[in-house]
Amino acid sequence: MDGMSDDMTFDVVVVGGGVAGLSGAMALGRSRRSVLVIDAGEPRNAPADHAHNYLGREGVPPLELLEIGRAEVAAYGVEVLADRVVGLSGEAGSFLVTTEGGRRVTARRILVTGGVTDELPDVPGLAERWGKDVLHCPYCHGWEVRDQRIAVLGTTPMAGHQGLLFRQLSDDVTLIVFDGVELPVEEVEKMAAIGVKIVHGTPQEVVTGDGDALVGLRLADGSVLERDAIVVASQPHVSVDYLGPLGVEPAPFEMNGVAYGSVVPVEPTGATSVPGIFAAGNATDISMTLIASAAHGVRVGAWINAELANEEAAAAVAERRGSLFERPAWEERYSGDKVWSGRVNVQLAAEAADLPPGQALDIGCGEGGDALWLAERGWQVTASDFAEAALARVTEHAAEAGVGGRVETRLLDVRTFEPDGETWDLVTAHFVHLPDGGMVDVVRRLASAVAPGGTLLVVGHAPSDVHSGLRHGHDSFMHTADQLLPALGEEWQVEVCESRPRTQAHPETGEEIAIADAVLRARLQG
Ligand SMILES: Cc1cc2nc3c(=O)[nH]c(=O)nc-3n(C[C@H](O)[C@H](O)[C@H](O)COP(=O)(O)OP(=O)(O)OC[C@H]3O[C@@H](n4cnc5c(N)ncnc54)[C@H](O)[C@@H]3O)c2cc1C
Repeated sequence: MDGMSDDMTFDVVVVGGGVAGLSGAMALGRSRRSVLVIDAGEPRNAPADHAHNYLGREGVPPLELLEIGRAEVAAYGVEVLADRVVGLSGEAGSFLVTTEGGRRVTARRILVTGGVTDELPDVPGLAERWGKDVLHCPYCHGWEVRDQRIAVLGTTPMAGHQGLLFRQLSDDVTLIVFDGVELPVEEVEKMAAIGVKIVHGTPQEVVTGDGDALVGLRLADGSVLERDAIVVASQPHVSVDYLGPLGVEPAPFEMNGVAYGSVVPVEPTGATSVPGIFAAGNATDISMTLIASAAHGVRVGAWINAELANEEAAAAVAERRGSLFERPAWEERYSGDKVWSGRVNVQLAAEAADLPPGQALDIGCGEGGDALWLAERGWQVTASDFAEAALARVTEHAAEAGVGGRVETRLLDVRTFEPDGETWDLVTAHFVHLPDGGMVDVVRRLASAVAPGGTLLVVGHAPSDVHSGLRHGHDSFMHTADQLLPALGEEWQVEVCESRPRTQAHPETGEEIAIADAVLRARLQG
């Protein structure tokens, strides 16, 4: 891709553009993620002329399949860069990816799908024919050599497995057991029973004839075993040196207790041991065929998308909580137009009307409706809030109402409030809410500010209000009155602990709707 500027940021950089990488990019691109695939262009099956067992594209040339895939992901905005990743640093949210071509891009997540590189046994002439008539997988190219003369190179004790599966395709299979390899006796018996011949000794070389046609293998004794195809168990290794500095290390891949090559270990989600780095396809499991690698890429791409979506939602929750529970938002709220009527709260009027006036502490006083009501009834009020703008309004309103002498303001945050021995005859809090049960601690703090014989009144929106259509998503901020009781010791006499129904005009429609207040009134023994 030309025209890509340096220092770009993507949601995900995919390292490797084989079927796993492009399929992961597809899932991510279709979820509207910004994705860059960086691909060195050497898929594992490139030496083969055709790819098999890929439903819908049976027999497609390997590079053609990827060309189709690149065009498909491009339709969803995925960018593909022909380059090789050589460096990775940083951490989840801000990885820096560097390439051989000198590109530097940042990404919130990394998907490693670089596949594996096959190491072949050291038999002269073998490597040149890899993927042509030197084969490894009965499912990839077994059908194509059916009924032919096949040699299976026994380089591990598991070689009988390949003998077994290729015998399914041809009745002329010879297993050549390399020096130093011990086939288990039951495998030897199995080969004899199904008609797989066994010879011993590491072959000397691959023998070719006219036009480089395969003739066969020169065996350890110098004789030539004529063959049409040679089957070999390669050692596939993952190359992820660039992940080393971040702590992602390859590990041996085990099948039936035998170690084959190396892979990047992953969780079922594709997560590696390093947060933010995922892997899929052959890089994680050498036994995955094309379609399995593609499927894995889609699955891991989806997990990455889910992780990013959750991360974004967590940030939105934090921002929303900030707007509900943190001081700057309330300063802003009380700095604009007046936000409420100035009337006393219904439950304060109901619960405090008969109390003899004394000293009152109004917690979360806002613009001062409750404080003024109390002052007008002879109380000496400390009106408190954590927003200075609110307190300025209380002072203004108290002066206007002629009760300035009975209302003092105090800046305090209920979450850290320590009365330090100071007490009031009435401590009242209306509609102070905190997430995750935080009000119990607050009520404990408020209770410690009540004078002997005094009253604590805490009123909140009842949890049942969420069914009214108001307070959507406030569930974890609401409490019933009795959920606050653990804050009060035995010296308290609980006088009211209930959900009290009332009605309120809907803020948008003006229609009267049924709501309820959680009311807790308690008296400290005097
Ligand atoms: C000879 C042969 C024939 C096969 N035939 C078949 C078959 O017919 N059917 C079948 O189902 N399976 C077949 N397979 C298996 C098949 O090749 C794998 O299952 C498949 O390639 C795995 O896909 P992948 O996307 O995980 O890795 P790959 O296809 O190997 O793709 C990895 C890509 O990542 C790139 N890359 C690696 N490192 C970096 C880096 N640092 N930066 C950028 N890019 C990087 C590579 O160049 C490559 O393009 C065959 C395998 C072999 C060896």
